[in-house]
Amino acid sequence: MPPEHNVTSQDFADHRHLRYAGPIIDAHAHVTRTRSADSKDDAEWSIAQAETMLAVAEEYGVVQTYSMCPPEDIPALRQRFGDRLRFNGPISKKAIDEPDDAAYRLLDRFLEQGVDVIKFWSAPRGRERGLFVDAPWRIEAARRACAAGVRVVMVHVSDPDAWFRKVYTDVAKFGVKADQYVGLCRMLEMFPELTWIAAHMGGDPEHADHLEELLERYPHLYYDMSATKWQVREVSAHREAVRALIVRKPERFLFGSDLVTRDGLPREHYHSRYWSHRTLWESAWEGRSPIADPDYTPEPGGPATPPLLGLHLPDNVLNAVYHGNALRVLPGATTRPV
Ligand SMILES: [Zn+2]
Repeated sequence: MPPEHNVTSQDFADHRHLRYAGPIIDAHAHVTRTRSADSKDDAEWSIAQAETMLAVAEEYGVVQTYSMCPPEDIPALRQRFGDRLRFNGPISKKAIDEPDDAAYRLLDRFLEQGVDVIKFWSAPRGRERGLFVDAPWRIEAARRACAAGVRVVMVHVSDPDAWFRKVYTDVAKFGVKADQYVGLCRMLEMFPELTWIAAHMGGDPEHADHLEELLERYPHLYYDMSATKWQVREVSAHREAVRALIVRKPERFLFGSDLVTRDGLPREHYHSRYWSHRTLWESAWEGRSPIADPDYTPEPGGPATPPLLGLHLPDNVLNAVYHGNALRVLPGATTRPV
């Protein structure tokens, strides 16, 4: 069995098709301390995976990464990596009956650590836990964060179309895809003074027209381009529409990987994600995605992974999405971290 991160035996050391030579800022990743899943020992928390991930990042020109991690991970990561890492605090509740105060205490811990961004994770599968993007406790968290000087909120709303076809078939429970955007629009209207980053191409790379309509309605809205399998599959499948949108609105997109550190991951796992993202955005490479994708339905007898069709974005657009927009939008962003 070939590994999940390389089912096509792609040579990730082959960068001949990658034409961009400048710095890249990763606006969406999860660099955390890791330990084996069965460990309960705090002494076993390690930054070795973070070390590996950021070393590979550097090989792809990624000079700075905005990480979502637990607040207790921040001091060790910051001490080791300095400005190469900046932090984004996910504000959530563990259970629907957990008091709102738990979310505010979590926010306080992130504020004490000086996060640049807060995140509201609000995928359809979080509805049962009450994780609506516009839940009252999230509105209050946004208010408090704003009062404390935070200016950027990242949100995850919606999920791939394929999941609405296969996983979220109970509409009463999950709503349809369009329903996921009602709360987001409400928050965008309630907090025009904040910058909003809708993760994973706003959750809708399948519908560039919808993404464009939101950008036109909300000048303080941006998209990060993270989530490798999803973007490779759907951006390739909607290549012309997505390319045309990014070229029309290059100032509204931020590069992101959505890479996650995990105990035991091989170095090549990290390579697979950076290689695929850069191949997708900047090259004219055409082939099969190297990464196994459970959301792709192969043709009978056809290749196991979806096509990866590079967008070959123009140089000025690459400069904007790879670092220029981050420098403008994200506090603490720099292409010369020390
Ligand atoms: Zn993520």
